[in-house]
Amino acid sequence: MTLDLDRLADKALSRELPTREEALAVLASPDDDLLDVVAAAFRVRRAFFGRRVKLNYLVNIKSGLCPEDCFYCSQRAGSSADVLKYTWLKTDDVIASAEAGVAGGARRVCLVASGRGPTDRDIDRVASAVSAFKDRNPDVEVCACLGLLSGGQAERLAAAGTTAYNHNLNTSGGHYADICTTHEYADRVATVEAAKSAGLSPCSGLIAGMGETDEDLVDVAFALRAMNPDSVPVNFLIPFDGTPLAGRWELTPHRCLRILAMVRFVCPDAEVRLAGGREIHLRTLQSLALHIVNSIFLGDYLTSEGQPGAADLAMIADAGFTVEGAEDKPGELAAALRSLPQSPPAPDSAPDSPPAPGSPPVPGSPPAPGSPPAPDYPAAAGPDAVRIRRRGAGTTLPANA
Ligand code: SF4
Repeated sequence: MTLDLDRLADKALSRELPTREEALAVLASPDDDLLDVVAAAFRVRRAFFGRRVKLNYLVNIKSGLCPEDCFYCSQRAGSSADVLKYTWLKTDDVIASAEAGVAGGARRVCLVASGRGPTDRDIDRVASAVSAFKDRNPDVEVCACLGLLSGGQAERLAAAGTTAYNHNLNTSGGHYADICTTHEYADRVATVEAAKSAGLSPCSGLIAGMGETDEDLVDVAFALRAMNPDSVPVNFLIPFDGTPLAGRWELTPHRCLRILAMVRFVCPDAEVRLAGGREIHLRTLQSLALHIVNSIFLGDYLTSEGQPGAADLAMIADAGFTVEGAEDKPGELAAALRSLPQSPPAPDSAPDSPPAPGSPPVPGSPPAPGSPPAPDYPAAAGPDAVRIRRRGAGTTLPANA
């Protein structure tokens, strides 16, 4: 079908669901139309979220050794991926890790634990960490992601001050058995509904790049829309060696942008969050995705490393967007952000000299002499692009935030 992008954006602005054919046409659109697709999605993003980018920060509070077999997951049963493995972090360590993200500009911290789902004792443990964190950071949202919930658990998390609960549908109902055999799609839907019923803000999204068809992607996007989630994380498969989906590099930067745009048209006023895999699949086009999504994860992921948090901030500023809530942040982050130009610098506005050795990094400025090189776009898809997380939560090394 011929894709009428103006009509598609107009429908999204009035929260009207596109047809399946329109959603499929976005995914099938040619490269020549890519910037038009991004521009149409940007109309929608700008209407609901302006030019703000909300930063989320992941804390892996229990890592690895999961009994479930989700094929995409480095923490699954039988995974030989060399990821960090540790049991529940102590409350002080949870708070310290989460506050590293807050200091980096995060407005929401996501406390994530591996496993099929929490026991009631686990809920006590997480509720107590949430409560202690909220006492110190009342304005920061906390999202819990603990797997399948059973009776009353969502209510107890809500009572402790948890803002949101994340449980992704991940893929379509029709494709689900191809990515997991130890639980079912319907289990996931039930947990999202339980979180909603308890008053937790529902967060549910997808993973692309797992062998799904365009129809599967549209199915899962429509299923998400039907659940009316407040936020929709879009992950791009990180194909860890040692998992069944190792070696599956089927995404291109352009396809990632089309997928994000399709999700934006289907869920126009949801927080569409660019999540895991953005560095390795979007690579140099990450900043273009900011015109579609209104939220990203800062720094590292659960078991893999992202680009430096300072590079995230620089990317946002260079693309002409602002970090949500940064204006309220005292200290280094606000100073660093204030120092950034609001539009691309003219050729003669570059700083005359680099910062002094040892001075804190200022996003967008040249590195200090002797400082480590600022990568951080992998040059190409492939196993070398996946970096296992070796810092932050569960280690003695500082977090990347
Ligand atoms: S339940 Fe969660 S931690 Fe366990 S294998 Fe699945 S995605 Fe990974």
